Amino acid sequence: MAKLTLTFDNGPTPGITEQVLDTLADRGLKATFFVIGEKLASAAGRELAERTRAEGHWLGNHTMTHGEPLGLLEDPRREAAEITDAQAALGELSAPARYFRPTGHGSVGPHLLSRTAADVLTSGGYTMVLWSLFVRDSKMPEGWADRALQRLPESEWHVLVVHDLPTGAMDQLPGFLDAVDSMGIEIVQEFPEACTPIRGGQPSAELDDLYVTRREISSVSGDH
Ligand SMILES: [Zn+2]
Repeated sequence: MAKLTLTFDNGPTPGITEQVLDTLADRGLKATFFVIGEKLASAAGRELAERTRAEGHWLGNHTMTHGEPLGLLEDPRREAAEITDAQAALGELSAPARYFRPTGHGSVGPHLLSRTAADVLTSGGYTMVLWSLFVRDSKMPEGWADRALQRLPESEWHVLVVHDLPTGAMDQLPGFLDAVDSMGIEIVQEFPEACTPIRGGQPSAELDDLYVTRREISSVSGDH
């Protein structure tokens, strides 16, 4: 049976994240929310994160400020702080593991991590979670569900990224989930090994492709 893992990035967003949580609860589904650390500073953001965790979803670290990808920052102190400050903001809400998702403009490549960031993740026991299905729902909310549904048969286990942001995209979530169900695809909360190049601090062989050495930065930034 094909599987799909749902991830919601860049929240929590009052007024939108509730809608996502209600939709998931109606269907008995569990997901992971990769939150931006600074969004937990407001009482509303914090309450939403607490509700998310209380309803059985996982909360992951999606950097403190969601700035440039960590491989492009060229400032080791900021690279480390983007991870550790967000982890401190999550505190005990981070569970059951230290899940981290880098910012990456939607693409997987050597811009995702600096050497410093990779060291922080491995020494801190993090699990880095990438994705396989990115449908540009925040820039092109129209039709994201159809784009995702078309690509689902490509893989036995996709990890989808969408965003609980006020773009209107989440209005398509109920219809999308109904279609996934009718395709016989099982929605699971776990992540496939192919999308976790660091697990509990242990790097896989593919990790070397995900951080840049200083001399490579200019060519990588030229792509974005
Ligand atoms: Zn993001």
